[in-house]
Amino acid sequence: MGKARIYMDWNATAPLLPEARAAMLSALDCAGNPSSVHAEGRKARQMIEAARRAVARLCDTLPAHVTFTSGATEAANQVLTPVFHMGRTPVCVSRLYVSATEHPAVLSGGRFDRGSLCVLPVDADGLIDLVALDAALAAHDRALGLPMVAVMLANNETGVIQPIADVAAHVRRAGGLLVVDAVQAADRLPLSIEALGADFLVLSAHKIGGPKGVGALVSRGEVLMPAPLMRGGGQEKGHRSGTENAAAIAGFGAAADMAAQDIEARMAGIAALRDRLEEGLRTAAPDLLIHGARVPRIGNTSLVTLPGLKGETLQIALDLEGIAVSSGSACSSGKVGRSPVLDAMGFTAEEGALRLSLGAATTADEVDRVIAAFARVVARKRLAGAAA
Ligand code: PLP
Repeated sequence: MGKARIYMDWNATAPLLPEARAAMLSALDCAGNPSSVHAEGRKARQMIEAARRAVARLCDTLPAHVTFTSGATEAANQVLTPVFHMGRTPVCVSRLYVSATEHPAVLSGGRFDRGSLCVLPVDADGLIDLVALDAALAAHDRALGLPMVAVMLANNETGVIQPIADVAAHVRRAGGLLVVDAVQAADRLPLSIEALGADFLVLSAHKIGGPKGVGALVSRGEVLMPAPLMRGGGQEKGHRSGTENAAAIAGFGAAADMAAQDIEARMAGIAALRDRLEEGLRTAAPDLLIHGARVPRIGNTSLVTLPGLKGETLQIALDLEGIAVSSGSACSSGKVGRSPVLDAMGFTAEEGALRLSLGAATTADEVDRVIAAFARVVARKRLAGAAA
C-alpha cells in the first residue's frame, strides 16, 4: 500500500473536526424548524443558540452580536454596504477603504459601487501603509457619510498579521467604522473584537474545522447594523432571513469551541513545525524566498517562491508525490495565476508562489516527507531545466 497523502493546504480549508461532525449529525436528526415553537423547533433553536454562544466566546463578545450567514463571503457582502441603520435611523457610509491584500470577498467592495472603493497600498512585507490610511481618512468628506475601513487580521496567502489596533486608532479618530476579516486568524490568534477595536468581524466555519457554507458576521454592539442582504422571514433578528442551516451552524459552534481552547499551546506546536519546514526547504533550495518572513505571521503559513520554477509546476509535482499544497490562494476553483497579494507587495516575478499551510493534525514526519519530496522535485526540475 502506498503512503497516505499529506494535506498541507489548511488555509484553503481545514479538515472537518470529529466534534463538528458529531454535532452536525445530531442536528441533522432534529426535525424541527428553529422558528417553530413546538418541542422539535425548540430543540433546533437550542442547538443554534449553543453555537451562537460558542462563536461569541471565540470573539470575546455577547451571543446577541453573532449573525449566522452562509460563509465569510456573505458576511462581508452584508457588512460592506453604504446603508446602515441605528435603530430606525438610516446611517450613510460614503466610502470604503480596503487594504490591497484583502481576500476577494472584501476587495470586491461588497455593495459599494466601484467609485466609492479606495484600495490602500501595503509595503513589501504586506503590512498596510498607515500613512496612506491616515491621508485617505484625512481627505474623507464626512458631509457625504462615514468612512468604512476593511483590513484583514491575517492574510490567507502570506499569513502576515496586520496591526489592527493601530488601524483601529486611525479609524476611531476619523469617526469611521472598522471591519476586520478574521477568517484566517480565528483558531490561530486569540480573538477579541473589543481588544482589536473592530466594529465588525467576518468569520468562516470551514477554516477552523467546521463545515463549508456557514460563517458569521460579528458586531461590537447591536445598535448600528448594516442593511440586511437577505430579506424575508426575519430570522437572525431580521439581519439574515432564511431558515437557518441548523446542522452547519451546530458544526460551526463545535469547531468554535475547539478553536478557543489552548490556542497558544496549539499554535506554538504548529509554528515549530512550520519553522522546521522552512528550514528544510531552504536547505534543499538555498535561493528560496519566504514572503512576509520579516514581520509577524500566523504560525501555520509559509508562502515561498523559487527563482526559475513556477509555483504551479511545483504544486503539480508535489501533488503527484502525494502532497496537497496550493499555488497562491485556492478560493476560486482551479484558478491559477499571479498572486494579487504578491503583486500588491511589489513582488512581480513571473514564477508565482507556493503556499504550504499546516494545521493541528500536521506531524513532524509529514513535514520531513514534504521536505524530502520538495528536494527531489526541485533537483529533477532544475536538472530538466538545465538540460533544456
Ligand atoms: N476571507 C479570507 C481571508 C479567506 O481566506 C476566505 C476563504 O476563502 C474568505 C474570506 C471567504 O470565506 P468563505 O469561503 O466562507 O466565503
